[in-house]
Amino acid sequence: MRFDAIVIGGGLVGAAIAYGLARAGMKPALVDEGDVAYRASRGNFGLVWVQSKGLGFPHYQRWTRRSAEEWPGLAAELLARTGIVVGHERPGGVHLCLGEAEFAERRARMERMRAEAGNFGFDYRMLGHDEVAELLPGIGPSVVGASYTGYDGHANSLNLLHALHRGFVALGGAYLPNRTVAEAAAAPHDFRVDDLAAPVVVLAAGLGNARLAPLFGLSAPVEPQRGQILVTERTARILEMPTTTVRQTLEDGIMIGDSQEDVGFDTGQRPAVMAAMARRAVLSFPWLAELQVVRAWAALRVMPPDGVPIYDRSERFPGAFTANCHSGVTLAGAHANLFAPMVAAGALDADMTPFSARRFDVPQAA
Ligand SMILES: Cc1cc2nc3c(=O)[nH]c(=O)nc-3n(C[C@H](O)[C@H](O)[C@H](O)COP(=O)(O)OP(=O)(O)OC[C@H]3O[C@@H](n4cnc5c(N)ncnc54)[C@H](O)[C@@H]3O)c2cc1C
Repeated sequence: MRFDAIVIGGGLVGAAIAYGLARAGMKPALVDEGDVAYRASRGNFGLVWVQSKGLGFPHYQRWTRRSAEEWPGLAAELLARTGIVVGHERPGGVHLCLGEAEFAERRARMERMRAEAGNFGFDYRMLGHDEVAELLPGIGPSVVGASYTGYDGHANSLNLLHALHRGFVALGGAYLPNRTVAEAAAAPHDFRVDDLAAPVVVLAAGLGNARLAPLFGLSAPVEPQRGQILVTERTARILEMPTTTVRQTLEDGIMIGDSQEDVGFDTGQRPAVMAAMARRAVLSFPWLAELQVVRAWAALRVMPPDGVPIYDRSERFPGAFTANCHSGVTLAGAHANLFAPMVAAGALDADMTPFSARRFDVPQAA
């Protein structure tokens, strides 16, 4: 079967890129391992988040901002094409600080973000307790303040995944599930993956990219990082704005998240971590203590060594690309609307160079 492109991995990253390629007029195949895979796209927190992304890496800060700008258009387009509401809202967002030390640390972080943004600008405000209370009713006395930016938002990431898949197929793309890619034959602009052939291949297999990349002259040294999430029963609409760790979903449950653990490929849950998350959430919003937790899960982030996305085009096998990131919801706008057109044009823009995995090729000190 011949295609214009083969995208390996049908999670948020692969689906967004495949959708963008199909919209650019290509005939892509989207190959996915299926339910046996580790899938961050099915277990994330749903933030379209800008304010803390890219500290120390101004190119990542800009890329995230550009993606957030693309989001409203993508959400509207997916609704028109598929009828699926991805629930994107961009009311701004806050990071709550419990105690003066957290507040001071956050202020310093945000100030550094602004300094690194340079001419691009970075508008943030540090809010005191009373200002936060005006935005988010029912905050607890432990909330000293918060950082706020208007760039932030959230969405229903499962609906997004569904819409990207449905839109991709509506545009003529071929979705090929339950295929685990283990081998491939690579030559410049000539790639064979099982019975599929194409002049372009995009590796977007999440944690699977680490093993696949060398087959295509690429490197994707991503590692798993576990995150756990709790969801409460539905409640009255209270939170009009997401925070980094607590947000009210489209369906009116409250999601509590953002734990980080290095436990390899273990997707189990740890009660101690769940308790710590719940405790912080209740300190932030004491009324949460009245709600029942109805669901909880763990999922693995796709984490590059420095936390910054890896995008590359293979020098050895032109036509092969890779995309890896731990913010696949946030970056969906960029992947569909900015990255996919670069792949379709055959080369990554010059400002993508800092994202190359070549940044890890530092010679060992003698
Ligand atoms: C707890 C948690 C909270 C998060 N919160 C947020 C958030 O609030 N905002 C945000 O922007 N991001 C968030 N993320 C990150 C986001 O979910 C990921 O960046 C994103 O889902 C990564 O998508 P992906 O397509 O690269 O990987 P995956 O979702 O893992 O998909 C990879 C796909 O590749 C396929 N695959 C793997 N190997 C092969 C193979 N050999 N052959 C064929 N197919 C293969 C698999 O079947 C899978 O479907 C969170 C993640 C976690 C775990």
